[in-house]
Order: sequence, then structure tokens, then C-alpha cells
Amino acid sequence: MQIAERTVALFNYTLTNAAGDVIDSSEGRTPLAYLHGAGNIVPGLEKEMTGKAVGDKFNVVVQPEEGYGMPNPIMIQVVPAAAFQGVDKLEVGMEFQAQTPQGPMSVVIAKIENDEVTVDGNHPLAGQTLHFEIEVMEVRDASLEELAHGHVHGAGGHHH
Ligand code: ZN
Repeated sequence: MQIAERTVALFNYTLTNAAGDVIDSSEGRTPLAYLHGAGNIVPGLEKEMTGKAVGDKFNVVVQPEEGYGMPNPIMIQVVPAAAFQGVDKLEVGMEFQAQTPQGPMSVVIAKIENDEVTVDGNHPLAGQTLHFEIEVMEVRDASLEELAHGHVHGAGGHHH
């Protein structure tokens, strides 16, 4: 059975950046399950999964445009340190939930200068070229419920 629309695929992966550093991996975990054609994984990877079958091993290089996009300058803002009430010491790399008109958003402190704090709400992998090493572990038909929800249920997917 090949990966196509209306199928669920489970795969193991290792994700490295351009420098060869491992960013994420399914090693030691259950394979990642996704509903093909539903946008559960980045577009550049989903495209390459089409037509693959159990046991297929391959490498995919995904450009930022087909990965997590390019960093958006609008997502980078300077806020006064006083906005971080209750935080003892602000440090670069700290993560916070910010309330925005679009709902809660995860931001990271990118820079601290005097009393001005620069926060970045872009995806940590925005602007990065992604190198995936993939092994397809299982391919099956999606259930009607999975198709209706737009995601996988059970092993490697949603439990609700
Ligand atoms: Zn569901």
C-alpha cells in the first residue's frame, strides 16, 4: 500500500539542520503518525511522502518556504522589561506565552538591552533548511473519523 490521500502513514525520522546538528528525532519513541493530505506535516515533506510504502528509507531536503516559512519581522517586537512581571531575571532564550489578537502565542526572548526586551514569535525553525531522514513504518487507510477530524487517532496520533 502506498502513501496517498486518505491514508495514514507512520514513520521514523531524524531532522538535522544545515550544519548537521540533530534538531529532532523519533528515536526511542513511537513513530510519528500523520494523515496524508491534511497538512499535519510540513508541505515539503508531505509532498515527498506521496507514493512511498512500508520499508522505504529516504532523505528529503526541505527549503524554508516549504518548511516552517521565513521569519516574519512582524513577529519580532520590543517590549519594556516591566511587562514581564513576576520574573526574577530575564534571559535570552526564555520562552513566554504572549496574548495576541490571534490568540496565545509562544515567544522567545531574542535580545535584552537595558530595559528593552526583544521577543521573537517566529517558529524556531523558520528560515531553516530541514534535512529529514525518513523510514516508513506503516501505511493504512484513514478511518472516517480521522478524515473528519483531519488528524490521526491512536498510536502516534491524537488521544481524545
Ligand atoms: Zn480527532
